Amino acid sequence: MDNLSLKERDLRNIWHPCTQMKDHEKLPLIPIKQAEGIYLEDFDGNRYIDAVSSWWVNLFGHQHPYIKSKIVEQLDSLEHIIFAGFTHEPIVRLSERLVKLTPQNLTKCFYADNGSSAIEVAIKMSFHYNKNRGLTKPYFVSLNNSYHGETIGALSLGDLGIYKKSYEEMLIKSIKTDVPKDKSEEEAIKAAKKLKEILKERAFEISAFVVEPLVQCAGNMHMYSPLFLKLASELCKEFDVHFIADEIAVGFGRTGSMFACEQAGIKPDFMALSKGITGGYLPLSVVLLTEEMYDSFYCDYNEHKSFLHSHSYTGNALACAAANAVLDIFENDDVLNKNREKIKYIGKKLNEFSKLNNIENIRQTGMIAAFDIKGFEPKERIGLRVYEYGLKNGVLLRPLGNTIYFMPPYIITFEEIDKMMDTAYEAVSLIERK
Ligand SMILES: *Cc1c(COP(=O)(O)O)cnc(C)c1O
Repeated sequence: MDNLSLKERDLRNIWHPCTQMKDHEKLPLIPIKQAEGIYLEDFDGNRYIDAVSSWWVNLFGHQHPYIKSKIVEQLDSLEHIIFAGFTHEPIVRLSERLVKLTPQNLTKCFYADNGSSAIEVAIKMSFHYNKNRGLTKPYFVSLNNSYHGETIGALSLGDLGIYKKSYEEMLIKSIKTDVPKDKSEEEAIKAAKKLKEILKERAFEISAFVVEPLVQCAGNMHMYSPLFLKLASELCKEFDVHFIADEIAVGFGRTGSMFACEQAGIKPDFMALSKGITGGYLPLSVVLLTEEMYDSFYCDYNEHKSFLHSHSYTGNALACAAANAVLDIFENDDVLNKNREKIKYIGKKLNEFSKLNNIENIRQTGMIAAFDIKGFEPKERIGLRVYEYGLKNGVLLRPLGNTIYFMPPYIITFEEIDKMMDTAYEAVSLIERK
């Protein structure tokens, strides 16, 4: 089957995510024939470095022999079973491991199959917990510039107009507060003060504070200090508001530590995980929560106190096998330690971008590096030019507005880091300063 016909057949029947389909009149879709390691290969034999880890999910490259073998092995015993009333070994083992890896106070796992659903679980549970103790607290606080997914509840917590604006009238109740402007402690303290003012006045009607720890990924890779998380966590305790850590994008080593919360030394009431959890192989998400939360729902049958939330594919055994394989790799290959050298190297390369006079806000947190192109309006879609240049030269960069970022699979080599970042450098040098 040739490339052209696949493109045409796709457009006849498919509507792609996060895409204005009319763009494909000019910008061709790229059918991928196969993916291996950090490379995607099309039908003409062009190879692209997957510099965005296939939307931040792929940690160890495509067709990783070990993850693949573990999924295949799982296929020989069971692929998926109903997860109410039944259980299986891969999920029990995965849960034990997640409980061990995450902050001590998190002892129970509630599963779903995508990030947005994990957020829905966390906010429903938080609200319901309060109901169980006779309090009605329908509001949630989240940060300016945040992103928590695109189902209605998760969308309500987010603050990115492009995803949200068209649905404003149908969203749930949320309050926005300032995200620290940069990585300085001064801005962290300022933002915490703002949060305190809100909690002081309205904590009685607020169930939870929801936050993307350290990096707001969809919000143009905006980064801030761990101090803010520490202060916000203290405030949440003081005002009896849950702290929900949305580690869907930053979990599993992205920020340099296994989980971003570790860098602030905090103990959130909920932690939502997805994306990297299966190394990008299968959909899975989980919310980790406290014993106290669990206990508040634990009673003789009472329909008002039970958490009657479910998804058909909850606890999929193949996904759990992939997740266990991912955790094996973290253990066996000393991934976090090995990433340290790569993080340093990416940082060094990133500094070279300061020679370009058409960019600003060069920033890095762990295995995420970013900068902004200066002087263009979003509607000029300057990122698209970088995207096209990247594709022509073998690198899949997918800018967020004017933000160019690197978020590669951890198996990227030093030479491939060169190729990825040098290509972006060339692309940006070709853009006239405005
Ligand atoms: C991607 C993302 C989500 C939503 O996850 P989906 O699986 O796309 O629904 C939520 N929060 C953050 C921080 C994310 O990056």
